[in-house]
Amino acid sequence: MKSIKCKNCGLSNFPSDVECARCGFSFLKIKAKKEKRPRSFSMFSVLMVTVAGAAGYYIYTGSQETIDQVNASEAKRAASKPVERPVAPGLSRTEYDRQKTQTYAESVRSSQSLADHNQHVQQTEKEMQQISNGK
Ligand SMILES: [Zn+2]
Repeated sequence: MKSIKCKNCGLSNFPSDVECARCGFSFLKIKAKKEKRPRSFSMFSVLMVTVAGAAGYYIYTGSQETIDQVNASEAKRAASKPVERPVAPGLSRTEYDRQKTQTYAESVRSSQSLADHNQHVQQTEKEMQQISNGK
């Protein structure tokens, strides 16, 4: 290994020296810079980002699970009450989701029939106006 040349006085010191033998100038900062390996440092950064990302992902999914659990317990609580469309307690998540989806599908269908009904009413009004105009 090369000897360390003192920045302060120019004396060549042993690589193992931590400070200049003549003036006492510290080599610790220079050594730290020299010993820093950019490749391994970037590898460490990538690892840290990965770990942070994984931690963030687990925290996110963990909170999502908590929200789902709250929703599930809320649904169970609602199911215990007498409601128009009772959800049987003790349903599995899949069955519960399927029922929920069916409810949404039914509301969409009913809104579609509602639109049809409105269209029919408008058509009837149009015909009524045509009849009254014809008179
Ligand atoms: Zn020196």
